[in-house]
Amino acid sequence: MSENGRIITRFAPSPTGFLHIGGARTALFNFLYARRHDGKFILRIEDTDQLRSTDESTKAILDAMTWLGLNWDAGPFFQTQRLEIYRETAKKLVAAGKAYYCVCQPEELEKKRKQALAEGRKPKYDGACRDKSLTATPDAVIRFRCPGIGATVVGDMIKGPVTFNNEELDDLVIMRQDGHPTYNFAVVVDDAEMAITDVIRGDDHLNNTPRQILLYEALGYAVPRFAHVPMILGADKARLSKRHGATSVMAYQEMGYLPEALVNYLVRLGWSHGDQEIFSLAELIAFFDLESVGKAPAVFNPEKLLWLNQHYIKECPPEKLAELVIPFWKELGHEVTDRRLAAQVVTDLRERAKTIKEMAAGSAFYFVNDVAFDEAAVKKFLNGDHIATAEASGLLFASLAEENYTKEGIENVLREFAVRTGKKLKDVAQPLRVALTGTTVSPPLDSVMTTLGKQKVIERIQKAVEYAKRVGQV
Ligand code: GLU
Repeated sequence: MSENGRIITRFAPSPTGFLHIGGARTALFNFLYARRHDGKFILRIEDTDQLRSTDESTKAILDAMTWLGLNWDAGPFFQTQRLEIYRETAKKLVAAGKAYYCVCQPEELEKKRKQALAEGRKPKYDGACRDKSLTATPDAVIRFRCPGIGATVVGDMIKGPVTFNNEELDDLVIMRQDGHPTYNFAVVVDDAEMAITDVIRGDDHLNNTPRQILLYEALGYAVPRFAHVPMILGADKARLSKRHGATSVMAYQEMGYLPEALVNYLVRLGWSHGDQEIFSLAELIAFFDLESVGKAPAVFNPEKLLWLNQHYIKECPPEKLAELVIPFWKELGHEVTDRRLAAQVVTDLRERAKTIKEMAAGSAFYFVNDVAFDEAAVKKFLNGDHIATAEASGLLFASLAEENYTKEGIENVLREFAVRTGKKLKDVAQPLRVALTGTTVSPPLDSVMTTLGKQKVIERIQKAVEYAKRVGQV
């Protein structure tokens, strides 16, 4: 059914929660593989678990994919809108004798399961209804008739061939009493109907794959290629979970990460290309392959993600960066509408902020009417002698002609002032920094001062001096 040999991949999340890091990596690999081969990337929402699937989760997943730029070419398809297809297909299997109705009750099955465990046997459906030729009744499920002999080999593109003994495989339920398909059945029908050529997914599904291959064969479908990607672990080698940090993709947006950083980080969780760490999207599309996906689980390293984020912040054009910071400023109570000022502010911060959130917090001082003074900073740098220094330098800036109020001009004033008063440059700069920003840590003073503008600088110095006098530092 493939479209003239064209590669078709899919991401098939169950909408039972947000898009997490592992799911996003699976989506990314499928997306890149399709793009690399000029193929097609399909999004399918596996929402047949009615109790756990929610519309909010679907929306959260779509939002996260969009944020990451993982654009799909077709879908989203919803399995709940395809129920008729599964029902018809299952009936065909029954008619061909490859599946059968089963009326074993859950309590009965549970009893048998416990008994098997107690006797040290692997629990397995005992085939009680296998040869009863039952017909459809409201309480019947449909089970697939597993061959029970021979072996099924998954020719995995990452793990190599993995052999499963068919004897180990149950006569699995493919349709539930409520007329909904089970995961293994729906996934096969859909992957075949949607002409998926390459199934790339987490290796927690590897054990499902032989069952799925048997279903493909029973249905007369072509079996796709499979690639099972190793898990993502935390630093302690346990499966990645909340205690290792945020696992939701959108939590990273909220923490001020750029999607480019997350994409770059995710792709390296399991895939490598020499020792290159930083990839543009175009490079990823040109280089991504499954041969270079490792067999060992990948370990999640938040510091590396932060490092990449800092890299992408530095690279981001100021106008674009400003748009990203604006919502974070808003959250801090600053409605920033002056795009030119915003771009200037982010340029001041670009070299130092690791996240957009940090950038917003570290630049809030630009937008306030009254600087929030850090008490310790005031005590240390806006006392006695220092306060006179700030006052005097303020007067110097006030007398600086507008055309000389440049980074260079400001620096000259500071240097000359330091030489004339016999002070270290630092002892001139720190009181000013505290006066202008409220703290001892800020972007370079000349940047802060040009961005704030002469008027504000003079005003802030005056206010700081008044404040310092008021709180009794002199
Ligand atoms: N809905 C399944 C999941 O989210 C999809 C598995 C698959 O890709 O086949 O795990």
